Parts: sequence; C-alpha cells; structure tokens
Amino acid sequence: MKLKHLLHLAAFGIKTILFKTDNPILGTVILTDDCNLNCKHCAVNNITGVHYSCENILKEMAGMYAEGVRILFFCGGEAFVWRDGDKDLSYLVGKAREMGFYIVNVVTNGTLELNVKDVDIMFVSIDGQREIHNLIRGDTFDTIMKNIDASKGQNICVYMAINRLNFKDIEPLARIARDNGNIKSISFNFHTPYEGTEWLSLSQDEKAECVKQIKGLIKQGYPVFNLYSTLDRFLENRWPRPCRQCIVIENGIRYICGRCSEIPGLCDRCGYLFAVEFSLLFRGNIRVIFEVLRTYLKFV
Ligand code: SF4
Ligand code: SF4
Repeated sequence: MKLKHLLHLAAFGIKTILFKTDNPILGTVILTDDCNLNCKHCAVNNITGVHYSCENILKEMAGMYAEGVRILFFCGGEAFVWRDGDKDLSYLVGKAREMGFYIVNVVTNGTLELNVKDVDIMFVSIDGQREIHNLIRGDTFDTIMKNIDASKGQNICVYMAINRLNFKDIEPLARIARDNGNIKSISFNFHTPYEGTEWLSLSQDEKAECVKQIKGLIKQGYPVFNLYSTLDRFLENRWPRPCRQCIVIENGIRYICGRCSEIPGLCDRCGYLFAVEFSLLFRGNIRVIFEVLRTYLKFV
C-alpha cells in the first residue's frame, strides 16, 4: 500500500472517531449470485443466477468511490464466473484501479484458475482439511490447492467459516496455510446462522474453545489475519453493530454493514469477525487501532 493511501486511511479513521461520522470506507460489490458450488452453509447462491450488468457495476463502483470508499471487495456467488459479454473480473479489477481504489480484494471459492492480476488480497474459501472441506463444499479441496499452487504473485488469504462440521480443523488448516509458500495468511469467521443453516452453529462453549485456539495460533506466530483483542468481544457478543463504515451493493440495492442487515435478529448472532473488527476500530478502540496497523501492514 502506498504511504499516501495509508495516511488517507489514517486520517479517515481519526475523523470518524473524533467526529463520530458514519461515512463508509469499505465497500463490497456483489457481481452475481451464480456459483459453481452449493456449500452446505450457504444461503445466497444461485437464487436468480443473474450476472449483473457491467454498466451498472461500474456505476455502483463510481458511486462508492464518490462516497469515500477506498477499500473495495468483489464477491459473488462466485466472482470468477461473472461475465458480461467479453468483460470479466479482470476487467473490473482494472477499472477499480483506474478509479483510484487503494485496496482491491476478491473473495472466491478458489475452484477456478486464480489468474486475475493486480488484486491486493485474494480471499480463498477453504473450510478445513480435505475430508471436512469436501463435506461442506463438495469435492473441491484438491482443485483449490492446485489453483493456489499454480497462482503466481497472488497475495492469498485462506478464508475459513467455522461451523459445527469443521471446528476441529482450525489448527490443521492454519498449519496448511502456514506451510504453503503461496498462502500468505488465514482469516477466520464464525458461521452466521441464516435461515435453514442454524444447525451449523456452535454452542457458546465450542465457540470459546475455537477462540482459545485462534488466540493460541496468533501467539505462536501463525499468519492469522484476525485481531487478537476482538476475539473476546465477539465471544461475549459485546460489540456495536451494524458497522456503518462498511457497505454492500447488489444490483443497485445498498446495505449498511452486510446484506444480512435486513434479516431480523441475525445481527445478534453475527459470526463475521471482520464486522467486529471494523466496528470496534471506528469506535476508536485504541488496542484495535494498533492491531489493525500491525496486521494490515503485515498481510496487505
Ligand atoms: S462458494 Fe460461496 S457463494 Fe458459492 S455456494 Fe459456496 S459459500 Fe455460497
Ligand atoms: S452485523 Fe453486519 S455482518 Fe453481521 S450479520 Fe449484521 S449486517 Fe451482517
């Protein structure tokens, strides 16, 4: 990240904290709900199968930039399957760069070639070791690892959603991430119980055990892209939400924090650790501010 961008983000943070403003800095554009997988925990894939038009996506990106967003995520469905004529994800990433976004990230299931250039962080979903991952996401583990091994110059962060099926795989997956030369970091989230997926939630004791493990991994120097001090706040469910500095746009509809914000009662059971982290960051939690600086400078 360029120094001037870092300074701008720091100034944004200071202004947000001092003046308690609600301006967004982090935006996610959903390109499609089309996905080549049908994961057990997923509530958003293949509802319409529509690939949103490039024209509208570019308008949404420009609107976000004008609002002040500088950190951009492309998501699906599966972001790599998105097409509009001859336009694909590479085209959108290039446009995001032209517009001036400081950080451009992609979230992917990793089953297609990871060949998009100029992405700051490629978040690749892996939900455990081979057996458990395949149970949740279909027979895809080997394909994903092959794509990671073949990827050149990508900053890959493994993205694990912890649930009832895979919570015993936290440490083994962290080891895989640490020992693979093409993976830079691993980021954990907990399952958010969308309707029909409640059975995948962990009990409070199980969550506590997972948090203990993740904290242990951080202490041992594993490349964990989560903030130590926010894990207890998550566990105690003691953090302010929604995070107003994060927005999501899907097909012209704008959500604050996440698309999930409109589902009654879901935010109370939110498992997205990034929401906890950003929310505490912009409320001026000093420890979180230092941890963000340290972690982002290491992994972005
Ligand atoms: S890859 Fe993502 S969008 Fe596709 S089914 Fe799995 S969780 Fe859902
Ligand atoms: S707090 Fe934010 S990320 Fe969590 S469920 Fe609510 S809207 Fe989604």
